[in-house]
Amino acid sequence: MRLTHLSTLSLLTAAIGLSLASTAQAAKPEAPNLSNAQFQQCLDGLKSSSKFRGVDSFTFNNYRPTQPDPSVIQSLNYQPEFQKDVWDYLSSLVDTERVEDGIRAKRQWADTLRQIESRYGVKPEHVLGVWGVESNFGKTLGKKPLFESLATLSCFDRRQSYFQGEYANALKIVQNGDIAPSDMTGSWAGAFGQTQFMPSTFLELAVDFDGDGRRDLVNSVPDALASTAKFLDKRGYRSGEPWGYEVKLPSGFWAASNRKDKKSISHWRNQGLTLANGSSLPSNLSSAGLLLPAGKDGPAFLVGKNFDTFYSYNASESYALAIAHLSDLITKENSSKTDFITAWPTDDPGIGRQESRDIQQALLNAGYDIGEVDGIIGDNTRTAIMQYQSSRGIFPADGRAGQKFHRLIVGNSAPSSSNSGNQYGNQYGQPTNSLPLNPATADRMGQLIQQQSSAPNSYSSQPSTRPTAVTPSTSSNTRYRRVTGADGVVKLVRVDEGS
Ligand code: CA
Repeated sequence: MRLTHLSTLSLLTAAIGLSLASTAQAAKPEAPNLSNAQFQQCLDGLKSSSKFRGVDSFTFNNYRPTQPDPSVIQSLNYQPEFQKDVWDYLSSLVDTERVEDGIRAKRQWADTLRQIESRYGVKPEHVLGVWGVESNFGKTLGKKPLFESLATLSCFDRRQSYFQGEYANALKIVQNGDIAPSDMTGSWAGAFGQTQFMPSTFLELAVDFDGDGRRDLVNSVPDALASTAKFLDKRGYRSGEPWGYEVKLPSGFWAASNRKDKKSISHWRNQGLTLANGSSLPSNLSSAGLLLPAGKDGPAFLVGKNFDTFYSYNASESYALAIAHLSDLITKENSSKTDFITAWPTDDPGIGRQESRDIQQALLNAGYDIGEVDGIIGDNTRTAIMQYQSSRGIFPADGRAGQKFHRLIVGNSAPSSSNSGNQYGNQYGQPTNSLPLNPATADRMGQLIQQQSSAPNSYSSQPSTRPTAVTPSTSSNTRYRRVTGADGVVKLVRVDEGS
């Protein structure tokens, strides 16, 4: 769960997944200098304010930070330039490992999940999907000390009022004896535990399911899973309904991606939609909206109310789709094929964590200091990839870890000996006359990049009149780089036009 209240920031952080990432050009701003005198003065004021009325002074003083943590203000204001495409986001979150871990967890917690289903009506695999995406089945809980983070956010920068409430709630959780103070660690913004609840959500919804008298979402899997189910139930989950399904659009069909515009299944049947495998749409959804995460040329979905409950966990459609897809693969107990039936509109699909670890190891072997091999493509790895690409004359040197880069560096494919390096494809072992690598045709929110539909091969004759959002030419000498604007829209910009 992330900050649904911080809408823009939340979408941005959600868009790039679990690890905040940036290109070298968009490195994090410096951590601000925060005055400790001002901080302590602020805490004095909070202690006697109405928001902290339910917090006794022993608790307040006992967990009062001695100094602020500037890194959380840095994170609050960090708007990464680099955003993952939806297929990269899905590939890193829903990979073979996570599906296998989910299948194991389903067997291990089968009894508990059955009891949770009978109390809250939520399908076990949907609970597992949230658990897997939120905390990798309890393996990634976040390490930031919550009181320091929340106190800092309560006293500096924007959103102070919101964080003051969360700070008071976090203190109440410890005061109630639900969570041990040493377990109060989490994300920079205060989400914690196996379900990554914010403190206010904890107080509203957390459940003591194992019956030990404490609602321990950090150490008790039954408590955490039951709390997730209760969350989904409270947000309108419909028992017995699927979240939705992948569909196939009839030829020539076009509609905007709008999951909120729910229609009956018979409406969609009449429009000619079928399941992705071609069979007729089942009647087990009361209503559904169309979701096109990468525009009309990528995978298409009809999604129902239960998809919306995943969305309410963290306001991002890609995020909700990751939960949905993971839950389907855990249901099918099939970890060998994690793709959708329809391919994403790219010739360079994303990779899972094993391939990411392969790349990191290969970069280490090549002398790049990327830190730990952890399967997470963060700032260091991305910078190293850019440097590696630049050193090989690979264009664009975008720092992206996709299947082609994996093949290049891990497969040790030899660059073409006769080529000067102006054809990106050749660096990846493609034939000299192959098309340049076409970057994504759509960004994650489905905003099409290819706004131009004019004839290919026309750029060289009239380059000065071309807008910057372009259709990749079929000329093998035309090259592009990806540029993400402040509005989050990815554009392809011709190399000779600059950015
Ligand atoms: Ca408990």
